[in-house]
Amino acid sequence: MNVLVVNCGSSSLKYQLINMSDESVIAKGLVERIGIEGSVLKHEIPGMDKVVIEKTMPDHKVAIGLVLDALVDGNHGAIKDMKEISAVGHRVVHAGEKFSDSVVINDEVIEALEECIELAPLHNPANLMGIAACKELMIDTPMVAVFDTAFHQTMPKASYIYPLPYELYEKYGVRKYGFHGTSHRYVSQRAAEFVGEKLEDLKIITCHLGNGASLAAIKDGKCIDTSMGFTPLEGLVMGTRCGDIDPAIVTFVMEKENLDLAGMNNLMNKKSGVLGISGVSSDFRDIEDAAKEGNERATLAIEAFNHRVKKYIGSYAAEMGGADVIIFTAGLGENSISNREEICKGLEFMGAKLDVEKNNVRGKDAIVSTDDSKVKILVIPTNEELMIAKDTQALLK
Ligand code: ADP
Repeated sequence: MNVLVVNCGSSSLKYQLINMSDESVIAKGLVERIGIEGSVLKHEIPGMDKVVIEKTMPDHKVAIGLVLDALVDGNHGAIKDMKEISAVGHRVVHAGEKFSDSVVINDEVIEALEECIELAPLHNPANLMGIAACKELMIDTPMVAVFDTAFHQTMPKASYIYPLPYELYEKYGVRKYGFHGTSHRYVSQRAAEFVGEKLEDLKIITCHLGNGASLAAIKDGKCIDTSMGFTPLEGLVMGTRCGDIDPAIVTFVMEKENLDLAGMNNLMNKKSGVLGISGVSSDFRDIEDAAKEGNERATLAIEAFNHRVKKYIGSYAAEMGGADVIIFTAGLGENSISNREEICKGLEFMGAKLDVEKNNVRGKDAIVSTDDSKVKILVIPTNEELMIAKDTQALLK
């Protein structure tokens, strides 16, 4: 069975065609600048040169049409016929409280997701466009939606309710939802497999540290808390997002800087985080380079980032009554040896001892704690596409 995994953004589209018999990626690619001048499709078959196709793509339907053409192309295609695509798995950002698991897409599901647009106005419309385009171009191919929010639906109410007037939750659904759920679920399952234990027996803290970053506390296989909230703005210090701040800063800065709602929203989402503190970049590699050259604000940005991850690890250990496993994943979690070292410094009090030698690893499954560490510290590369494909296969069996 081949599953096409589709992840649509407002002007982009990422895809992977996965052969489920051995979970191998047989083709993957990225479309950029959909609806903007200069649209381009970069298509890749592992082991072969990347093919770059520049063509006007006014909307997602045209983009998906070109992706399908590329997949069956005589020269750089991966399959002979579209019929070899058994199913499509769509990444969908927000399912509100409607879905706590992946679902087979039908008209009711689409309607339910349209009702969630208000909660994710930047993401859900793009996801829905991708679904509509595939529905038109691949009429008989079944589709599954896999949600970023679903895994966090097991949080107890005391975790997800905000201390605001309760009516705001009832009227508008203002509560913590959490994101990156597919990644937190994948790495926690993979970690249990990797250490040869049952997921249901473990207390796990997953640290998804990328441009967007979040932690989750997973007890008995279920998420009980996570650092992102009503939107992906809450929680950690991120590439350009501020994460937790005193809410009173919002109105104070709006007044002082004469900002309107959109201006303040932009400041907190695009100009803050490690970019805001360092003034250098949102990319950790640039910030690390600047810090090495003596840039104090770059050093401060890295310290502030690590400080907050550590703080969340401590609070999640307290929530779960300890931890058995801490997992690092995503761009920074998988690759930054120094960030992992700084974050884990001082966690010995809760039985987590990093092994500096073993921590000298990037981008592969590894145990990086000492042999006598009570808490296993792991690096597990995330694979949201594979998780989406697995859910798709399981639901259609
Ligand atoms: P997203 O998917 O949220 O855009 P990623 O998971 O790709 O983000 O992570 C991007 C972050 O990971 C960037 O800040 C980047 O600098 C960091 N990163 C990637 N590789 C390395 C590395 N080798 N060392 C340090 N940081 C890295």
